[in-house]
Amino acid sequence: MVINMVARLEAAFQELCKKNRWRRTAQRRAVVEYLFGNTDHPTVEAAWMELRKKLPELSLDSVYRILDELAEAGHIRRFENCRVIRYDPETKPHGHFFCRRCGRMYDFFTDAADGAGEACAELGDVSTVELHVNGICNACLRTEGG
Ligand SMILES: [Zn+2]
Ligand SMILES: [Zn+2]
Repeated sequence: MVINMVARLEAAFQELCKKNRWRRTAQRRAVVEYLFGNTDHPTVEAAWMELRKKLPELSLDSVYRILDELAEAGHIRRFENCRVIRYDPETKPHGHFFCRRCGRMYDFFTDAADGAGEACAELGDVSTVELHVNGICNACLRTEGG
């Protein structure tokens, strides 16, 4: 399991660097590794705090630059939620369920995004569709009153 995951990550990283003609730096690798399969929708600060544990010399600017590079190349999504920029390794169209108690953001998949895109097609050129649902997640509901 773990070996498989590492192999997939390595392949993805190699492909990414080759495709974009990027140098294979330790920083870049660490950012890709951190984001791979990450469902937390981290902000640049959250990513930096986590990455610094492994690479103490890594600057916030570098993390910001690498994340934006990955987003520009279309490997991750960059989106804004409540004026906060977040990064998402899931690039398939999907919606976000935002728990207003714990602040966690969950992915959900629906073809409602397609419908919304189609409905807007006559209004203009649609680049991305953001589906955002607010509520309280099951994990929070379970601990409620307990
Ligand atoms: Zn919650
Ligand atoms: Zn997401």
